[in-house]
Amino acid sequence: MIRLAIQSKGRLNEDSLRLLREIGINIDDAKRKFLGKASDFPLEVLYLRDDDIPGVVEGGAADLGIVGLNEIAETCAEVDVVRKLGFGQCRLSLAVPKTVDYTGEEWFNGKIIATSYPSVLKKYLKENGISATVREIKGSVEIAPAAGIADAIFDIVSSGGTLVSNGLVEVKSVLESEAVLICRKDIPAEKKTLLDTILFRTDAALESQGKKYVLMNLPTARIPEALALLPSMRSPTVMPLAAEGWSSVSTVVSESSLWQTVEALKGIGAEGILVLNLDKVID
Ligand code: ATP
Ligand code: MG
Repeated sequence: MIRLAIQSKGRLNEDSLRLLREIGINIDDAKRKFLGKASDFPLEVLYLRDDDIPGVVEGGAADLGIVGLNEIAETCAEVDVVRKLGFGQCRLSLAVPKTVDYTGEEWFNGKIIATSYPSVLKKYLKENGISATVREIKGSVEIAPAAGIADAIFDIVSSGGTLVSNGLVEVKSVLESEAVLICRKDIPAEKKTLLDTILFRTDAALESQGKKYVLMNLPTARIPEALALLPSMRSPTVMPLAAEGWSSVSTVVSESSLWQTVEALKGIGAEGILVLNLDKVID
């Protein structure tokens, strides 16, 4: 049995459970309390506040955790980051009221900065020779300047919409973050085997993200041109069709270049192009 700590509610909860489902681990959510159990894998889920996850994994009460890199940086927990999970992207940034005359980082000297990430901020200020006062507040950091609690803030930013609506401007991104899978340092051998299974499945799920399976019919004479257009894990699959002079070609294409590729394929005579979702890619 291996124990995984995830956020009990909040931004990472749903994506964490979705990832587990994608790798064939289903938690009985109906009976969700503090500890849940998977019906189809020897795994327990411990539901915690995200701040507590790094420390609980470090202490060994959970073997694994899913948490933002920002929380690991703040707690300085001694854990291994084993995978970046591709969700919960955000950054920790310094922001100032848009009305101030911001000249550069020296502006922060002598100022008060409100944050829920005092440890990351203090480290940054020290490394950059800035002498500012760090005021820790637990929530609603973005209202601190308007409320007269601080001159500036150091907070989580993703789209930047919250900053704009509070009259703030992001001036420096200090830490890029996303959700990661963490593991305790001294994981016992029998749990390591379960971790390896989880990682194998996770890699297959992550690998399929942003990829599509494309299938088309093409005049056989145009196959060399199609092969030049198509990237693939090894090489596209080419099969003859029953109709003389035609072939079926299939391959995996990244979503970012999908439309470009499809248009180029049409240009060389491709017909009946099917674009299908990929569930897993297992190497
Ligand atoms: P908890 O009650 O568990 O302590 P919280 O209020 O501290 O929750 P959330 O707002 O749910 O935290 O955010 C959890 C994590 O999600 C953050 O630590 C960060 O890694 C990530 N995150 C936060 N804000 C965003 C955002 N706007 N976009 C993407 N990811 C974010
Ligand atoms: Mg929290």
